[in-house]
Amino acid sequence: VLGGVGPKRAEALASLGIATVADLLAHYPRRYLDRTRQASLAELKVGEEAAVLAEVRRVTERRARRLQRPIVEVDVHDGSGLLRCTFFNQPWRAKQLSPGRSVVVFGRLESFQGRRRMTNPVVDLVGDRTGRIVPVYPQSDKAGLSSYEIQALVEEALRRAGSFADPLPDGIRRRLRLVSRDRALRDIHQPPSLPAAWDARRRLAFDELLRLQLLLVARKRATEREARGVRHAVGEDGGPLVAAFRRRLPFALTAAQERVLGEILADMAGPHPMHRLLQGDVGSGKTVVAAAALLAAVQGGYQGAFMAPTEVLAEQHHLGLRSLLEGLGLADPSRLTGERPVRLGLLTSRTPARQRARLHEGLRDGTVDLLVGTHALLTEEVGFRALGLVVIDEQHRFGVDQRARLREKGTAAAGVDPDVLVMTATPIPRTAAMTVYGDLDVSVLDERPAGRSPVRTVWAPGPEGAEEAFARVRAEAEAGRQAYVVCPLVEGSERVEARSATEEFERLEQGPLAGLRLGLLHGQMPPREKEAVMARFRAGLIDVLVATTVVEVGVDVPSASVIVIEDAQRFGMAQLHQLRGRVGRGEAPSFCFLLGEAGSEEAERRLRALEASTDGFELAEVDLELRGEGTILGTRQTGRSDLRLASLRRDKDLVLAARAVASELIDADPGLRELSLLAEELRVFLDEDDAAYLFKS
Ligand code: ADP
Ligand code: MG
Repeated sequence: VLGGVGPKRAEALASLGIATVADLLAHYPRRYLDRTRQASLAELKVGEEAAVLAEVRRVTERRARRLQRPIVEVDVHDGSGLLRCTFFNQPWRAKQLSPGRSVVVFGRLESFQGRRRMTNPVVDLVGDRTGRIVPVYPQSDKAGLSSYEIQALVEEALRRAGSFADPLPDGIRRRLRLVSRDRALRDIHQPPSLPAAWDARRRLAFDELLRLQLLLVARKRATEREARGVRHAVGEDGGPLVAAFRRRLPFALTAAQERVLGEILADMAGPHPMHRLLQGDVGSGKTVVAAAALLAAVQGGYQGAFMAPTEVLAEQHHLGLRSLLEGLGLADPSRLTGERPVRLGLLTSRTPARQRARLHEGLRDGTVDLLVGTHALLTEEVGFRALGLVVIDEQHRFGVDQRARLREKGTAAAGVDPDVLVMTATPIPRTAAMTVYGDLDVSVLDERPAGRSPVRTVWAPGPEGAEEAFARVRAEAEAGRQAYVVCPLVEGSERVEARSATEEFERLEQGPLAGLRLGLLHGQMPPREKEAVMARFRAGLIDVLVATTVVEVGVDVPSASVIVIEDAQRFGMAQLHQLRGRVGRGEAPSFCFLLGEAGSEEAERRLRALEASTDGFELAEVDLELRGEGTILGTRQTGRSDLRLASLRRDKDLVLAARAVASELIDADPGLRELSLLAEELRVFLDEDDAAYLFKS
C-alpha cells in the first residue's frame, strides 16, 4: 500500500497498466532532463524542436470564434524569456497548468503574430525537484496522473522496498559488465548521472531479453528431449534418389544451397524432429532445396507434404516437382524393373471429389509419396501412413496452430514427430529472428543463383513516371518478354479490389497498353479461370498480366522482365520486395517501376530504400528502423513478458548475449533448480503455458 493511493488514484494507475508495486517499478521513465543542460528560451530559434523547463505564469481560456473549439493559452517563462503554449481541444489543460507550476514543454518553436509560440506541445509536470537529473514518466493526462506524482510514488516504493535480490548469477553479471538488479532499479528511476541511467537501462533490458530467451531455449530443449523423431537414412548426400535428382537439375546448386541442404539432411538423420526455418531472399532457390529434402524422406519409405499458401503457388510447385521428378525411380523389389516412379499428388480445395477420395486413400495406404497442396492438407480426412517430412512454404501466411496441425498428422500416423521445414522469403534481421523464431534452428540462403542480373528499380511518381514505365512494358513485350502490372491496393473487400483491378485492366487495354495481349488475374475469379490465365501467361500467350497481389508470393515465370507496381506507397516494404521478386528470374535485365507519390516521409524512405537495394536482409533492417519492432514481434508480445526497454534494433549485442546466457543456464540446469530466484521470477513473468516448458522437467 502506497501513501495517498485511494480508489481514484488506483484507477488512474490502472489506466497506465499499473496494478502492483512491481508494475510501478517497471513503469520506466520515458526520458530524463538534465537541469543543468536545458535549452533556454532565449537561445531557442524559430523552427527548432526542443524541451524547455519553465514555470507557468498565466493561463487563459477561450473559444475559437467560428468552430467553437476550446483553446487554452498558457504563458510560461524560464528566466531568459517567455513562451506562449496554445492548446486546442484540451480544455483540461487550464486546470492542470496552474500558475507557479514547473513544467517541461516539448515542441517546435513557432512565431505567431510576433510572439514565440508552441502549438499543442507535449507537457510534463516535473514538479519542483531539486535533483540534477529529473525522470520524465509516461503520464496519463486524461486520468490526471502526472509525471511528478508517479515519481513520488516510485520514490516511496523504492524507499520501502529494501534491497532487491539479484536473480542473475554473479559470475555472468560480472562477465557482461552489468550493474546489480538493485542498482539498476534505483538508477533507472533516480539516476545520479545520465551514464548511470544508461547502465541501469542496459541491465534491465538484458533481463527482459534473458527471460524471453530462457523461455525459447527451454521450449527448444523440451522438444529435443521429449519428442521422438524419424531417423531418416539419408547418408552423406541424401541417398541415391537425391543424387539422381541433382544430376537431372539443369543447373548446379549454389554454395549456399549446398550448405543449407547439408544442414537439413543432418537434422533429418538425427533422432530429434527437425524444426528448421529456411530464410532466403526471393529467387534464392528455396524450392529446389525443399524438393531434395522431400526426396530424402521418400527415399527411406516415408511420405512428404508440401504446403503452400495459395492455389496458384501450390499448382506451380506441383508442376515444378512433376517435371523435376520425371524419370526418377524409387527402388521397389516387388517390381520387375526393380523400380517405380515417385508418386506425387496435388490437393487443393478444388480437387474434384472423386480424385480427392482417391488421394486420401493413397495417402493412407502409402501409395502416394509426396503431397503438394494448400490449406486443404489440413482437413480431417487427410491422414498419412508414414509422414516423415513437412515443408511449409511462406510460413508467415499460416498460423502457428495450422503448422502444428500438419505436424500432428505425422505424429498420429507413426507415433513420431515428422521433421518440419518452414520457409520464408521475408527475411528479418538475425537478432529479430532469434527472438521471433527463437525455438527454431535457422538456415539462411544468402546467395543468388548465377546468371541473374539484378532488377533495376525506379521510383517514378507522377504521370511522366507512368509513361516511362508503360513504354518499358511495351518495349519488353515487343522483345518477346513479359510484364506484370500490379493494381493498387484497395481498402474494403476483395470484391471491391477485384472490381478496381478489372477497371484498371480495361483502362490499360484501351490506353497505355493498347495492342498488347493483356490478361487479368484477381482473387475473385473462379479458380479454373485463374489457372487458365496463369497457364497462358507461363506459355507466353499473354504479354502483360494485370493482377492484384495474388502474384505476390512465389510465382515463377523466368521470361517476365518488368513489373509495374501502381500506388506503390500503399504497400509495405516486404510486400514490395516480394512483388519485385517476380522479375529478375531469367537472364534478361529486369525492371521494377514503383508508381505513385510517396505521401509521407516514411513511404518516401521506403521507396528510396527499394531503389537503392535489392538485398532483402538490408531492406528488412531499414524496415525495422522505419517501423519499430512492435510490428515484427506482433503477437509474440504477451503481457508481462513484453519488451519494454529492450530494442531488437538498438540492443543487438544484448540479444546475442541473452541468447548465449540462456543456453548456458538451461544446459547446465534444465529446470533451473539451482537458480531458484530466476525460476521464481519467470513464474511471475510468464504465462502458464510458457512456464510449463521450463518447469515440467
Ligand atoms: P524462391 O522460392 O527462393 O523465391 P525458387 O525456388 O522459386 O526461389 O527459385 C527461383 C528460380 O531459380 C527457379 O526458376 C529455380 O528453378 C531457379 N534456381 C534455383 N536454384 C538455382 C541454381 N542453383 N541455379 C540456377 N537457377 C536456380
Ligand atoms: Mg518460393
